Order: sequence, then C-alpha cells, then structure tokens
Amino acid sequence: MSKKYEIIIAGAGIIGLAVAYEYLKRGKRSILILEKERDRGQHASGRNSGVLHAGIYYTKDSLKARFCRTGSEKLYQYAIDRKIPVLRNGKVIVAWDETSARQIDILYQRSIENGVKVEIISKQDLKKLEPCAGTYDRALYSPNTAVIDSKGVLDALHQDLNGGGIEIRFDAEVLRIDADTKTLKTRSGDFEYEYLINAAGLYADKIAHQMQVGKQYRILPFKGCYRKIRKETAALFNGSVYPVPDLGMPFLGVHITKNIEGGLYVGPSAMPALGRENYKGFDSIRPDELPRILWDLAGLSVRNEQNFLGLVRSEISRYPLRGMMPHIRRLAPGLTEADFLPGFAKVGIRAQLFDAKNRRLVMDFLVEQGRHSTHILNAVSPGFTSSFAFAEWLLNEKLPA
Ligand SMILES: Cc1cc2nc3c(=O)[nH]c(=O)nc-3n(C[C@H](O)[C@H](O)[C@H](O)COP(=O)(O)OP(=O)(O)OC[C@H]3O[C@@H](n4cnc5c(N)ncnc54)[C@H](O)[C@@H]3O)c2cc1C
Repeated sequence: MSKKYEIIIAGAGIIGLAVAYEYLKRGKRSILILEKERDRGQHASGRNSGVLHAGIYYTKDSLKARFCRTGSEKLYQYAIDRKIPVLRNGKVIVAWDETSARQIDILYQRSIENGVKVEIISKQDLKKLEPCAGTYDRALYSPNTAVIDSKGVLDALHQDLNGGGIEIRFDAEVLRIDADTKTLKTRSGDFEYEYLINAAGLYADKIAHQMQVGKQYRILPFKGCYRKIRKETAALFNGSVYPVPDLGMPFLGVHITKNIEGGLYVGPSAMPALGRENYKGFDSIRPDELPRILWDLAGLSVRNEQNFLGLVRSEISRYPLRGMMPHIRRLAPGLTEADFLPGFAKVGIRAQLFDAKNRRLVMDFLVEQGRHSTHILNAVSPGFTSSFAFAEWLLNEKLPA
C-alpha cells in the first residue's frame, strides 16, 4: 500500500523547501518532498548569481515587487540566525548614454514605490563606491543588495526540515499523477496526497499539464553562462555592477557580481537553450522536446513584441569573450580580455514561462490552482530572494492551512 501524506511537494529547490519550512513553522509535519535528482541544488537554486535583490526593477502591482524586498529581509535574517555566509556589499546600476540614464530615473521611481532604499549618485560618488565602474552622468546605488551562499541556504533548510520530521526523498522524480485517486507514481514508489504542490522548476509545466492546469503556458529554457575574472582584478571590486536592463524583458542583463567567497563573475547570458537541462554543448537535447522549443522560439520571433530578435542577436554577438567586451566595458571601462579566466565558469538555466496563447515571455511569478493542487509556474529571478515571502503568501492565500 502506498504511504499517504497531507501535503506532497514536487521539487526540492528553494521554492519547495521554503514552502515546507513555512508549513513546519505553522506546526504541520505530514509533508513529503519529492526530488528528481540525487542531491539538492542541481538546477536554478544551486546555479544562480547568489544575489539577494533589493526589489528595484518590478512594477508595484507585481508579485515580484510584493515578495522581493520582504523576501530579502527574511532570507537575510535566516542566514544570520543559521550562520550562513551573507554580505550586504551593495550594488550600482550604471548607464552608458542619455537614454539608458533616463532608465535610472524610472528604476529610482519604482524603488521608491516598492519601499526600497536607493540613491541616485553622481559619477564622482560612483568612483568612491566602486572605483572600477563607469557610468554616463549618474548611477543608482542600492546599499541593501546582498550576496548569499545559496547552497548553504538549501543545506540549512534541509537540516531544519529533517529535524522537524519532514521527509525529503531524492531520486524520486514524479512521473505520473492520478488526480482522481490523488496518487503519484515516482521512481522510488507510489504515494498518496491530500494536496499537491508543484514546485518542479524547469518541469513545472509538465506536472501542471498532467493535471489539466496552465495549458497555455510552457517552459522555454534560457541559458545563463558566467565567466570568471582573475583574483587580482576581483580584489578591485566591492560589490555588484549591473547595467540598466531592458524593462520589457524578464532578464536583468549581464552584470558583474562579487559573490560571497569574493569571486568575481560576469554573467549570466540569456541565450535560448535547446533543452531543459542543456547545460553544456548539445547535452540533454531531447528529440521529443526540441521541435516544441523551436516552435515556441519561432512564435516569439514572429510576434517580436518584446524585441526577442534583438535579444537573440545581441546574445549571439556576445557569446565569444571578444564580442562581450564592449558590453562589459560599459560596466567597468578598464576591464580587458586578459582579466578573464578562459571559458565559462558556471551555467544555470532559467525556467522561463512562455505564454503560447499571447506569444510572450511571462514577466511575473505565476501561480495556478488545480484540483487539490497548486502549481508554481514561473519562479524565475528574483525567485531565490523572494522565496520566504512567496511561501508565506502561498500559505496565507493559496494553500490549505
Ligand atoms: C542563471 C540564473 C541566475 C539567477 N540569479 C538569481 C539571483 O541572483 N537572485 C535570485 O533571487 N534569483 C536568481 N535566479 C532565480 C532563482 O535561482 C530561481 O528563481 C529559483 O532558484 C527557483 O527555485 P525553484 O525551487 O522554483 O526551482 P529549482 O531550483 O529548479 O528547483 C526545482 C526542483 O524540482 C526538481 N524537479 C523537477 N521535476 C521534478 C519532478 N517531476 N519530480 C520531482 N522533482 C522534480 C528539480 O530537480 C529541482 O531540484 C537565477 C536563476 C538563474 C537560472
């Protein structure tokens, strides 16, 4: 007979773990987390920039705006309590011409509306804060942006959940769901649930579709590659340097991040990936998925409403380091190719949601309800930062008590 749980969560990324942790805080223990991989952090939650975003970019009415600032505060406090490395080393957003400088003013306005502490600073003040950064006329400074040990957070949550009696099973991919009998088939056995929470990241659409939920949405994976800067140059930077992004796109643009260990990374790119786990070369490209991905990319190109073709063109030109340098010099004019270690240092893939009906990339987090189930469909950046506040809201508004 299969074992029964009140709650089953598919996916042990930050979202699945944060939801389980919120349940634990409220005293619920009949929870099982099922994870496809043999270890935690194999996908976005273990492959991100490790930035606790302050909440600058998002329009006031969005879920991202709602959860990012408070999520950052909650995760920062959790890190302090659990002795996980975290550091508020700040971030500057820079411009390169009059048009991009005007975006700084828009971002300033959004930050104020979102209750985020920021300051518009002059070129001279920028030099004092971040001597290697450059800007056109002015920059935006966010003192509360932090960096965190993402894997340390996953480890601590895992320990807390296990300590609280919540079971996490690895190598337990959810394969089939029967919504009538509320049973699940996994690689490590069958389970019954009273309520199912889908936090399966890159595969969240597949689980949702099995339950006839969110049929108009599909995950369109976007690859984010990072390059690493040599140690001696890294020592010259204090925090993160970001460009003003294209506000019509859900990506923040290639930036420079000084991570929690002091390593300096440049990335991530935003190149369409040819498979959900296409981390390297032609790995993990599946013949049953590739035509659908190409079809969706074609859909985005035809409509081109979010200037998708412009994104692809610039991503292709930036793929070799030489092509990337003009862009990097907008952030830090003194950097040269010699400052970089060869090749890519790390790669992550965004579980970006594509709205096939409207042929658009979905900008905000998306939560869909199904029969005895909730599906978290677009937990893209700043999903890590937002996770604790997002989980609290899910339990208050969408999930059974
Ligand atoms: C390159 C990159 C940089 C980023 N930088 C930042 C940043 O600096 N700050 C920030 O806040 N956010 C950042 N993000 C976003 C952030 O990483 C994500 O929002 C967050 O990690 C999403 O968490 P998740 O739990 O939804 O997904 P995941 O971490 O992908 O977890 C989902 C889990 O579900 C499992 N799974 C999948 N299918 C099944 C199945 N059928 N059965 C069981 N388990 C399954 C997967 O193996 C996986 O472990 C970045 C993302 C990327 C890709």
